[in-house]
Amino acid sequence: MNKNETINGDTLPVLPLRDMVVFPGMVVPVLVGRPRSVRAVEEAMRGDRRLLLLAQKAQGKEDPQPGELYDLGVEAEVLQSVRLPDNALRVLLEAKERRRVLSFSKASSWMESKSLSLALTEPAAPALEPATGALLRLFEEFVRLNPRMAPEAYQNASSVAEPGRLADLIAPHLSLKVPERQKLLETLDPAQRVAALSAALATENQLLNLQRQLQGKVRKRIEKGQREAFLHEQMKTIQQELGQRGEDLNEARELRQRIEKLAMPKEAKEKALKELTRMERSQPMSAESTVIRSYLDVLLSLPWGKHTKDRLDLKNAAKILEEDHAGLEKPKGRVLEHLAVRKLVDQLKGPILCFVGPPGVGKTSLARSIARAMGRKFERISLGGVRDEAEIRGHRRTYIGSMPGRLIQGLRRAGSFNPVILLDEIDKMSTDFRGDPASALLEVLDPEQNNAFSDHYLDLAIDLSQVLFITTANLLYEIPGPLRDRMEVIELPGYLDDEKIAIAQRFLLPKLLKAHGLKASQLDLDEGVLRQVIREYTREAGVRELERQMATLCRKAAKHVVDKGAKAVFKVTLENLSVSLGIPKFQKDETEREEQVGVANGLAWTGAGGEVLSIEVTLMPGKGALVLTGTLGDVMKESAQAALSWVRSHAASLGLSKDFYTRQDIHIHLPEGATPKDGPSAGIAMATALASALTGRAVKRDVAMTGEITLRGNVLPIGGLKEKSLAAHRSGIHTLIIPRKNRKDLDEIAETVRKDAKFHLVSSIEQVLELALEKKKATPKKGGRVEVPAALKWTGDATQAWA
Ligand code: ADP
Repeated sequence: MNKNETINGDTLPVLPLRDMVVFPGMVVPVLVGRPRSVRAVEEAMRGDRRLLLLAQKAQGKEDPQPGELYDLGVEAEVLQSVRLPDNALRVLLEAKERRRVLSFSKASSWMESKSLSLALTEPAAPALEPATGALLRLFEEFVRLNPRMAPEAYQNASSVAEPGRLADLIAPHLSLKVPERQKLLETLDPAQRVAALSAALATENQLLNLQRQLQGKVRKRIEKGQREAFLHEQMKTIQQELGQRGEDLNEARELRQRIEKLAMPKEAKEKALKELTRMERSQPMSAESTVIRSYLDVLLSLPWGKHTKDRLDLKNAAKILEEDHAGLEKPKGRVLEHLAVRKLVDQLKGPILCFVGPPGVGKTSLARSIARAMGRKFERISLGGVRDEAEIRGHRRTYIGSMPGRLIQGLRRAGSFNPVILLDEIDKMSTDFRGDPASALLEVLDPEQNNAFSDHYLDLAIDLSQVLFITTANLLYEIPGPLRDRMEVIELPGYLDDEKIAIAQRFLLPKLLKAHGLKASQLDLDEGVLRQVIREYTREAGVRELERQMATLCRKAAKHVVDKGAKAVFKVTLENLSVSLGIPKFQKDETEREEQVGVANGLAWTGAGGEVLSIEVTLMPGKGALVLTGTLGDVMKESAQAALSWVRSHAASLGLSKDFYTRQDIHIHLPEGATPKDGPSAGIAMATALASALTGRAVKRDVAMTGEITLRGNVLPIGGLKEKSLAAHRSGIHTLIIPRKNRKDLDEIAETVRKDAKFHLVSSIEQVLELALEKKKATPKKGGRVEVPAALKWTGDATQAWA
């Protein structure tokens, strides 16, 4: 095509464009539908395929007139034309050069225009370089910001050197309105075009930036909303799965409130809150959270901040002790003294009260009375059988089911931080411990240390200094030494029959009647019968068994009343007693006790109080063996050896042959094998029984003895004289042989017992034998109960010596 021809104007079919402005260099697909336009394209196709593209000024116009078209457009070549079924055409156009309209002419059915080419040969324009550079940078930004732009667009642009062409290449990408585009098209000066385009592009970029920010925000907002919705949804599912979480959250909240409210010391509160946080973080059903939950349960259930107000009114205390107990004058006095000191010294750092005595003598009930008198809560902790330190201090919190120690549990049950806590049977604890409960207990009982008692489970220092501890034991000597040192021992040795009767009438009977729903008038139980019950159905220092037997009578009475009506009276008499209680378990010993050879009455001190033990010795032909039977401990066996050695070394003075033992075996037996017996105090009784058996001289009936024996025949003092003398009294023995060194203990013995019996104080075994053995050899009685040991009938050297 010859460009020079265009100077005079070229006539080309006109294709009006409704809503676009095409720039030179563009290749655009256009849908041609209007009949005049279709004709124009057809006309072009018939010729050299050239068209003049002109934008409409009013886009809505269906059939624009020459004045309604811009008079500057571009020449285009039809690259392709496809006819569509509705007679429309789809054409692909390549825009070539700018043209200005000179005139319009109306060919038959399409529009034609004579126009002038404005194609300029662009000079190299180094002066424009900064401007084009800026334009390119703006375009680069535009491509980056505009998601619809392919990155290659920038690459293509950057390879174009001429500013005008560059502008034409970039302009179509801008989202400008038709008039603005047209204006750019009409800006013929490349420099101006670049400048105008740059301005437009900058605005465009700003808009894009803004849009992007907005989108970011919106997206974020949407994302956040979605995220939350998603999480909520997930949480709901988890909650449903576990059916739990909601409760847990509530629980945690409640626990927090409780912790805040409780009057805990700072350290404990911090610990509790820390554990709570740990619990919240852990899986609701996990082992960890279970462990923490029960820990908090324990910790929060301690009686934080709760203290009862002490009443230290001695008159009132005396009254209450009197109300609750018959007798026990001495212990009551000691208790009152203790309280008096407490009253004077605000915080008593002194010893702990320890009640020592057999079961059923009122130790627990005395402690309970003290609590009542002082207006404190009472809690009993049984230490019997405790052998592990962990029972006192608790287990470390490492597994499910670990627990605090008994003290903390006791405190929890008591419901105040200053209760009276009775540590029951501390002697039983020490007997078979493996860990060291005693040392833990030492800490508890030491006023210097117990304001910060550490329980392994709680892992916190707990102040026990406000607690009034009272301990009990059956046997003083079984309490571990260091513990005993901290205690003020108050002995309750046991009761005499009369005291028991008083207790039974004043305390046990009313209590039992009430427990069995009986009226006093419905059970007739007089003093004589009670005495019979005590003598023949019980043999004890305390009143436990008595209470049990009386309970049996109450049950019988209850049945009687139910059978016979409320008016009925259940009368217990000496005669019908055995109908209710069965055959008497203990017959009165006096009748039984006759003079015997080789049998002596020893006195033992056991956990159940004092006891009369009969010690039997039998001789048999043999080679001098010593046989011991009857559940004897080591100490007792040694006592037996010592007794035998003494007898052997005094064979001559006893009238025995020097080598009597070489031909005989000696069997020492202590009946009632079930009760373990130990302790040295049966020494003189064993020596007496031995001497009796060997000499054939009977032991006087009605004599009981206690004392340790040395090899030299000296008699050493023993413990538990009070209990032993009571036991002898119960058994109807009136002569007691006791070590001289125990004289001081005589004052402690109940008046009744002292008056009733004769006490012989001895310091050597010779004195014992003198008192206990009959002067003459016994002669066997036919049908009588005196048994002559088998060895006596045996003729041998030994018997000769007795002759
Ligand atoms: P312990 O603790 O010494 O084994 P308890 O204190 O349990 O004995 O006493 C057993 C029962 O005997 C209780 O019912 C108690 O009330 C009663 N009891 C013991 N001694 C007396 C007493 N002196 N006066 C009134 N009741 C007593």
